Amino acid sequence: MNNFDFRNPTHILFGKGRIADLKDQVPAGAKVLIIYGGGSAERTGVLAQVHEALADHTLVEFGGIEPNPRFETALKAVELIGEEDITFLLAVGGGSVIDATKFIAAAALYDGDAWDILTLRGSVVTDAMPFGTVLTLPATGSEMNPASVITHAEKGAKLPFMSAHCYPVFSVLDPEVTYSLPPRQIANGVADAFVHIIEQYLTYPAAARVQDGFAETLLRTLIELGPKALETPKDYDIRANLMWTATLALNGLIGAGVPQDWASHMIGHEITALNDTDHARTLAVVLPSLMHDQRGPKREKLLQYAANVWDIREGSDDDRIDAAIKATRGFFEAMGIKTRLGDYDIAAPEIDRIVNALKDHGLTALGEHAAIAPDDARRILEAAL
Ligand code: NAP
Ligand code: FE
Repeated sequence: MNNFDFRNPTHILFGKGRIADLKDQVPAGAKVLIIYGGGSAERTGVLAQVHEALADHTLVEFGGIEPNPRFETALKAVELIGEEDITFLLAVGGGSVIDATKFIAAAALYDGDAWDILTLRGSVVTDAMPFGTVLTLPATGSEMNPASVITHAEKGAKLPFMSAHCYPVFSVLDPEVTYSLPPRQIANGVADAFVHIIEQYLTYPAAARVQDGFAETLLRTLIELGPKALETPKDYDIRANLMWTATLALNGLIGAGVPQDWASHMIGHEITALNDTDHARTLAVVLPSLMHDQRGPKREKLLQYAANVWDIREGSDDDRIDAAIKATRGFFEAMGIKTRLGDYDIAAPEIDRIVNALKDHGLTALGEHAAIAPDDARRILEAAL
């Protein structure tokens, strides 16, 4: 196992009715900016629950954060923070709203050009405003991690940053607020969480028994409960298990002391930036192809994945790896997520644009061995057509 630091300061308030507990979590006397998305929080009544809980606080609202949140929109919130002397931020929404809030929290205290935060991957962030979250979509793990992904529409760029200053102070996870999610977003959330686990698990053995065992349990939970969540949308225990799985998938626990890949995410971000494809759907396209392409370097872990996650134990090594890749693709498809570029109207000529974008963003040595160069990414994408 590699050396690691593990510290996760986010206080989780999990369960039915927990939005009411916001009143004790948001500092008394704070002037709060509530940040939300395109209207689901209003429609579903979550925003009303937040207002009720914070009836004794001074509240200002900023709505309109887009899925794949935009740099330009986030800067408008930063302006409002200055105008209104806001002291605390509260994100109410999915990963996009939470990611935008992290960026807003950092940009509000940053002196230079806020774009630096993204191009320099968070290294310039020395402080951020305090913020909490009310999660409405289990998927990204953003509610308990220091990462954020922001899109610059004009530049056609979707870039991640991380900063230890960008952990939420608290996150409220009420599984009941996920009942209103459309099937497409449930499926996306399950697929995104699945690939987060894979990015930290499916690399090469690092003698990390606990991390591997946790990762395998989380993967099996998603495989079992993902389709059931689509069939029975108001089953509390299914939603509760999915919600906690998605948080644990990317809160640092299973990634401590192990090699990590993230190539599917980096290639997927470029597809979204160019084509606006849902984040999770880009992953479902790239991952099966990448598993196939990287079956050499990932051999031992692919065999472990086949056995421990899919219970595939018969046949030659190559047969078992093929069966595990097929099962992975089949799982995404069973969730209603197509796994080919062509399913999203992305044809061969666009692969050049995706590969060039990776080069432009300096993403030329991806994966756990930093060995996936642009030409390898091209091969992976061509096999995903
Ligand atoms: P999202 O983009 O936050 O939300 C997707 C859609 O779901 C929105 O249209 C939203 O509507 C709607 N929605 C949210 N909650 C709902 C509810 N309870 N009922 C009905 N509709 C609801 O989706 P996401 O998958 O959570 O976030 C995706 C973003 O996170 C991408 O930009 C991705 O790159 C990023 N990401 C971040 C991390 C990280 O570690 N920080 C990891 C992976 C991915 P409204 O806009 O109207 O609310
Ligand atoms: Fe993701």
